[in-house]
Amino acid sequence: MKKPKSKKPFFRKRNKTHLSESQEIELLESWIESGKPESGSNPLSISSPDADAPVGFSSDRSFSAYSGCTRFDQLPLSKNTKKGLESKYTVMSEIQRASIPHSLCGRDVLGAAKTGSGKTLAFIIPVLEKLYRARWGPEDGVGSIIISPTRELAAQLFEELKIVGKHHSFSAGLLIGGRKDVDTEKERVHDLNILVCTPGRLLQHMDETPNFECSQLQILVLDEADRILDVGFKKAVNAIVSQLPKQRQTLLFSATQTKSVQDLARLSLKDPEYLSVHAESVTATPKLLQQTAMVVPLDQKLDMLWSFIKAHLNSKTLVFLSSCKQVKFVYEAFKKLRPGVPLKCLHGRQKQERRMGIYHQFSEKRSVLFSTDIASRGLDFPAVDWVVQVDCPEDVPSYIHRVGRTARFTSVGRSILFLMPSETEMMAKLQTAKIPIQYMKANTQRLQSVSGLLASLLVKYPEMQYLAQRAFATYLRSIYLQRDKEVFDVLKLPVEEFSASLGLPMTPKIRFLNQKVKKKSAPVEALLQEENVSEDNSAPLKAKVPIKKKRIDKTKEEAENDILLAKETPIEDGENEAAAPMTRILKKKKLKINVHRPVGTRVIFDEEGNTLPPLAALADTKSGDGVLQLSKVKERYAKLKEEMKERDKEDKLLLRQRLREKRTKEKIKLKRGRTEEDDGEGEGDQDGSVLDREGNDRNGKRSKIYFNSDSDEGEKKERKDVGYIADTISLAEQEAFALKLLSSMHS
Ligand code: ADP
Ligand code: MG
Repeated sequence: MKKPKSKKPFFRKRNKTHLSESQEIELLESWIESGKPESGSNPLSISSPDADAPVGFSSDRSFSAYSGCTRFDQLPLSKNTKKGLESKYTVMSEIQRASIPHSLCGRDVLGAAKTGSGKTLAFIIPVLEKLYRARWGPEDGVGSIIISPTRELAAQLFEELKIVGKHHSFSAGLLIGGRKDVDTEKERVHDLNILVCTPGRLLQHMDETPNFECSQLQILVLDEADRILDVGFKKAVNAIVSQLPKQRQTLLFSATQTKSVQDLARLSLKDPEYLSVHAESVTATPKLLQQTAMVVPLDQKLDMLWSFIKAHLNSKTLVFLSSCKQVKFVYEAFKKLRPGVPLKCLHGRQKQERRMGIYHQFSEKRSVLFSTDIASRGLDFPAVDWVVQVDCPEDVPSYIHRVGRTARFTSVGRSILFLMPSETEMMAKLQTAKIPIQYMKANTQRLQSVSGLLASLLVKYPEMQYLAQRAFATYLRSIYLQRDKEVFDVLKLPVEEFSASLGLPMTPKIRFLNQKVKKKSAPVEALLQEENVSEDNSAPLKAKVPIKKKRIDKTKEEAENDILLAKETPIEDGENEAAAPMTRILKKKKLKINVHRPVGTRVIFDEEGNTLPPLAALADTKSGDGVLQLSKVKERYAKLKEEMKERDKEDKLLLRQRLREKRTKEKIKLKRGRTEEDDGEGEGDQDGSVLDREGNDRNGKRSKIYFNSDSDEGEKKERKDVGYIADTISLAEQEAFALKLLSSMHS
């Protein structure tokens, strides 16, 4: 059907005939003004304009509606932004549809939408547009600041900004900690229009960079806003905000939005628009995310994790642990055990280049990434199949962000949460927060034990012992420091078993734990004993939350390998029975010989033919409880240490001898070569100087060649050896000797 002439859009037509920048801006402003959504309204509830309706303005200067529109090209955006979007994005997501019309008109926005729902574009587009319409140029300085809680997320936002803003002429910079080029940054920061940064680095520039100022700032963005307004960043954020002009637009986005009036007051928001697009949604997490929980005693977590990894070798998996030390230990240990899939680790103690390298590698390649919570917020790794939470998250928002690393945008994903019997209260909290999570049981038949292997690793690699001890202590400390005491109670943990499960021969002393126990006037041993007693009696610990039946779609092969039982052990809906924790591995489970065990480790069998971890032989057999006897362990360790020392000495001697022989041989060779060379070059070498290997001039000492050696002693010896060869047998003598030998052979 033909449209009436007067209704034909000529915004686009005029574009083609090179609408000047100022004309375009003028039109955009009129367009935005004409279609402003009402304050407090949600554009999602406005019926979308006809998809085929002309876009822009008509000859009578009436503009097409943009509130409620579904496509980016229906929005009053500059052609530079539209071109930037074209390559990747056409249809808007809900949060984009709801918030962009408001933010384009300069309003403060608090946007909340599930993880992976496209919040980044919902603030990058308004930032570009605001500066473009303000005709921001290099001489205007900082016009926008985008703050992220982590460096990797800042880098990711910066990449997205580069893609969408590539046709604009603004300068943008990534200011994050851990980068060495802070001086270059200081020189260039004045020329930047858009800063993407972490709070610490921004504050560093505010404090240290001469003449750095943001007094003209137009628009401030806090991504993961609740995290940035959290106590951890409170001081830094207050200091930053105090240096920003109050007259500005502010956009706050997160999947778990803060509503604390106090927090928002700190940012001096003006009549902010609350746009919580998924608030009415049945679930707080992405629709395509399948979530499960499993009761796993502390001392079986690593067995369960190992078995999980072995059963999902073709998956991209993100594993969350509670601290850097945990991550380091599990990563180093599992790497040595070679599970058959590449392993990576990410934590705050790594150098920044390494962190970024790992971030990119995990984005590109299928692997297992062990991480602390630094990877829990905002990161958009493509195609993560599984999120495994080995250590319980500190609260519900933390859970939501961790699982949100999978099932992003329109992708599917799965997650599993290990809960200790003492942490099952968390399940109730998650379910109350509209998180559809179900218990499932482990397929114990496919469970592989690693505690034995870890014990051998710790003997073979003494540095691993240190890592294990640190992991042990920091884990207990992290539980001790958790705020939610309903979920976390360090005194309920099976400390001895946990220590053994990391391969440690004896339980390290934990000072804060003892203090805590003293305060409660009960000895820790007694408390731990109680724990042991109930478990020795195999009394199943009851989980408080009802368990529902869970089915997960799997390929047949996957289902066979899977350690997660769904079909085999269905638990009836509403049944108030606990997902009983599995039996303690070190005591009851039969261990198989593992072909993947580290080379050179001994396999020890018990009387029934079961394999034992090397140190289990030291366990007190009389009491039959498998607990290691400290005196025996110490004795064994001292013996091992002595043996190692002896072997080490022998090895070193042998190595030294071999090196010496090698060097002597080389020297003879070199000496011969040198003598021949000298014979040939003698005439040209008028001043007779010789450079040794270190490049020193050794005038007049041609018969001797000195080598750099490891120690003074070694050096002296070398000199003597060479001296002996060179001094005692001349070349002429050697030749004569050789000739004699030859002639005697022929005769
Ligand atoms: P969030 O910040 O809500 O967790 P992101 O902004 O990181 O989500 O977006 C998640 C993924 O969805 C990204 O890979 C992004 O490129 C993609 N995405 C966002 N908006 C759109 C859109 N309108 N169309 C297609 N893909 C989109
Ligand atoms: Mg995000």
